[in-house]
Amino acid sequence: MIVTADWVLPITGPPLRDGAVAVKGRVIEAVGPLAEMTARYPERAVSVHADSVLVPGLVNAHTHLCLSALEGLIGPMPFPAWLERVAAASRALDADDFAASAAWGAVTCLMAGVTAVGDIAYGPESLSATGDIGPGGVFFWEVLGITETELARTLDRLEFPRERECGEGRFSCGISPHAPYTSGPALLRATHRLARERGIRHMLHLAESPAEERLMRSGDGPLAEVATRNARGFTSPGAGAVTYAHDLGVLEGTIAVHCVTASETETRLLARHARGVVLCPRSNRYLQCGAPPVAMLRSAGAALAIGSDSVASNEGVDLFAEARALAAMDPGLTPERLLAMMTLEGARVLGIEHHFGSLEPGKQADLVAIATPATGTPAETLVGRARPADVRAVMTAGAWRVLDGQPVGRTARIEAAMRVARAKAERVLSGTFPGRRSG
Ligand SMILES: [Zn+2]
Repeated sequence: MIVTADWVLPITGPPLRDGAVAVKGRVIEAVGPLAEMTARYPERAVSVHADSVLVPGLVNAHTHLCLSALEGLIGPMPFPAWLERVAAASRALDADDFAASAAWGAVTCLMAGVTAVGDIAYGPESLSATGDIGPGGVFFWEVLGITETELARTLDRLEFPRERECGEGRFSCGISPHAPYTSGPALLRATHRLARERGIRHMLHLAESPAEERLMRSGDGPLAEVATRNARGFTSPGAGAVTYAHDLGVLEGTIAVHCVTASETETRLLARHARGVVLCPRSNRYLQCGAPPVAMLRSAGAALAIGSDSVASNEGVDLFAEARALAAMDPGLTPERLLAMMTLEGARVLGIEHHFGSLEPGKQADLVAIATPATGTPAETLVGRARPADVRAVMTAGAWRVLDGQPVGRTARIEAAMRVARAKAERVLSGTFPGRRSG
């Protein structure tokens, strides 16, 4: 098949007016002007996307797809109060609920043009449910509240995969010890070591909230009790969370999520040692955490990705809105850089750039056609005004998943299963926090 649109943005090269992508099976075979592609492959059917820009599938580098059933049930509210509620709601859900929730989250991602995720999972459900729907990416098994001696047994119980990659590299696994206030120093070192030994990615929520910063600096505040219960052996380092992770030796090669309260010195530590930083500005706002130091991170030279975080702490998945939020914080971010953060740079931070993030031969045939007014500056127009409702067509691994702005195939059963999980969470929230639930 040949897929063509008014503009094709390969990311690794300049925009192509009347460009086209030749797809063979699950991968991209060639990218170039439409006339050249049809001359080279005259027998191929041509899928035309008028008044649209064609981009690689977007990379949402931080999600919790298993929590998608909780959208709109909690908050906005300050992070510690939100955390308590999301933990209570999660305890009400079983493996089937998480699978239904992840499947619905995967549909939501596709509808927003996202075809690769950096997902925090609690077991095998998220990977299998998501994979069936279309998106690929890295699935991080989350461990917290245990000692380092319990790590191997816990990962066995959670069916942590033995192989690094599956599905021709479309899926890979990683490990995440959640955050410094839920995993003690010995556990952080153990997950970091395991990631190194197995050559997999290590992701850590870091410096997300003022409460975490206070815990780090003075050992008290609203997260102190959470840390006592979960982070065995934690004592306040009297320094920021990024410095703490660096001094423990666990920042090296780690994907750091949020980094809202990072100081200027810490942004330099992140640039030098972390694999990259995933920025989730709309989730940070929802949880009243503040704004990440985007300009300092950019000046320091950090690799930057964009994430929605879970939709339990956001108003849906919309990477364009995330990009505009970042642009408002740092006018030095160009539309081209923001588009790269949503695609190739995000893929590099996750370590999946061999398969995702740009339109190049040999990469996964993950394409998104977005309805956009005709201008001579397609990247600027796209980043400046696109919304998920403008996503007209999405292909993953050579198969159409969204056409005419609608999911291909029925999603009613997925939605119904998600609603069962959502009802359970709602009951627990209204019982545990009576009269305090919003949304
Ligand atoms: Zn998160």
